[in-house]
Amino acid sequence: MLQSLLCSEKRKEAKSRLKCIICDRETIDDGYCRFHEGARRVIIRKYDDWTRAIGISWKEYLSEIAKNPLTGEWAKEVALHLLEEENKKNVENG
Ligand SMILES: [Zn+2]
Repeated sequence: MLQSLLCSEKRKEAKSRLKCIICDRETIDDGYCRFHEGARRVIIRKYDDWTRAIGISWKEYLSEIAKNPLTGEWAKEVALHLLEEENKKNVENG
């Protein structure tokens, strides 16, 4: 599931040297700048631990990150962005 997430983003942002989806910095990969891409990788890696520990869904997990006061600003912005994408997907799927 996480792999398909990564792939679909790659296809969407095939061109390089774009602006970050979240801020205006230059992207390094997948439409994110190095700060947001770094935060996103941490989020995806940690999701593995969370599902194993408490069996949380991807969306629930993102919401937890977004409202957790201990979450850094970069990670929070990425989590909110990914949540928006999930909501858009749900609308498209009906
Ligand atoms: Zn950024």
